[in-house]
Amino acid sequence: MNTNKKTHVVIVGGGFGGVRSALLLSNHPDLFDVTIISKLPYLIYYPTLFHTAIGQRSTMTSIKLSEIFKNKKAKIIDGEVISFDRQSQTVFLTDNSSFHYDKLILAMGEVTNYFNIEGLDKFSYSVKSEKEVLTYNHHLHDFLVQNEQPDKNYFVVGAGPTGIELASRLPGYIHYLMKVHGIHRKAVHVELVEAKEHLLPNFDRKFSRQISRRLSKLGVSIKLNSTVSALNDSQLIINGQGYDSKTVVWTAGVSTNPFYQNNNFAMTKRGKVSVDVYLQAEDNVFVLGDNANTPYSGLAQTALNDGSFVAKNLIRMKKGKYLKPYQPKIPFSVIPVGKRWAATIYKNITIFGFLSSILRQLGDLDGYLKLLPLSSALKFWLKGFKGEPKHCHRCQIKQ
Ligand SMILES: Cc1cc2nc3c(=O)[nH]c(=O)nc-3n(C[C@H](O)[C@H](O)[C@H](O)COP(=O)(O)OP(=O)(O)OC[C@H]3O[C@@H](n4cnc5c(N)ncnc54)[C@H](O)[C@@H]3O)c2cc1C
Repeated sequence: MNTNKKTHVVIVGGGFGGVRSALLLSNHPDLFDVTIISKLPYLIYYPTLFHTAIGQRSTMTSIKLSEIFKNKKAKIIDGEVISFDRQSQTVFLTDNSSFHYDKLILAMGEVTNYFNIEGLDKFSYSVKSEKEVLTYNHHLHDFLVQNEQPDKNYFVVGAGPTGIELASRLPGYIHYLMKVHGIHRKAVHVELVEAKEHLLPNFDRKFSRQISRRLSKLGVSIKLNSTVSALNDSQLIINGQGYDSKTVVWTAGVSTNPFYQNNNFAMTKRGKVSVDVYLQAEDNVFVLGDNANTPYSGLAQTALNDGSFVAKNLIRMKKGKYLKPYQPKIPFSVIPVGKRWAATIYKNITIFGFLSSILRQLGDLDGYLKLLPLSSALKFWLKGFKGEPKHCHRCQIKQ
């Protein structure tokens, strides 16, 4: 590589991995021209997305890319990349524009996968985007207000961290809505459905047992070894039996962005992109975060680490230094279960309760700090401490 000429790095994806790498590279305007292309003009801070599902403000979840890159030398392009040409080193967008790159970084996240289960795409709710979460929240509210009683069952399918966090807050939220709207208090049936034989199939059993206990205390029933085979407008079919519900949320399946298969990348059996020790999928093309086949992909922390790793190696490369190989970082997993209670696991250390919920808040602050300067990071983080609204967020009725 000619180290005197600036390297044009094109980054596709304005999420955790893409933004982190763009931020570090844009600190070196003498070495790099940075272009970040993203389908959305903002980064979705997924760890706080579920707040919107239970009627809280969405303002801590969407961080405008223009705010993140306010004083940075990076070009932001609002657009969708559909293909690229390896030979001419060019990416192509749906609006027919194209960008030449010297180095390409891809961090395009995951998409919801319904595994072809009948009716799920039509009748279930999803929590993968702000729009979807709002639609779900409006349904929770409108069903209750129109029928003056809760749905027969509220199903959350998938007992991973997202499903657990969401299910744990539903009984409290539905009771809150009943109270605000003067609806006579009735039992609320929240069911967490998991195909495997224990919650959090990727974690230690003792850890998931503690979480099960906490969920039961909060009024969440757990259905293990339960496979969903279909959903229609009034019933969810689990292990061949129909259960009445108009409120099914699907958190059980995601898959890698189809861009990679459509563009003939080498994929692993896990459905992730094969990468080498530099997170390089092919010459001059790096893949990060949820898309890369690394041991802990699927987490924001991993995507942030990957973004830093690739950016720092590119800086080293420009400075003629040796490249470091990728070292996966064991994640610090904190799963909130209801208000002011969480479960933490790091290596073989586990912590349950209030202290864990503080760790979670500190983890969020750390996440914001990796994306924003101190004052903006604090501004977003502190939004999470605002109390419950005193009126219904949807129809403005006062409590
Ligand atoms: C509801 C939910 C809760 C979560 N909670 C946690 C948590 O508490 N802790 C944790 O560590 N992780 C959590 N995660 C996982 C975490 O959010 C992901 O691991 C992380 O977002 C991955 O970062 P990424 O950069 O790989 O992809 P993403 O952050 O998903 O970013 C992908 C980006 O690519 C853009 N894009 C996609 N396709 C195109 C295209 N064709 N052209 C241009 N741009 C494109 C998207 O608009 C997006 O900006 C959660 C995920 C979800 C869905």
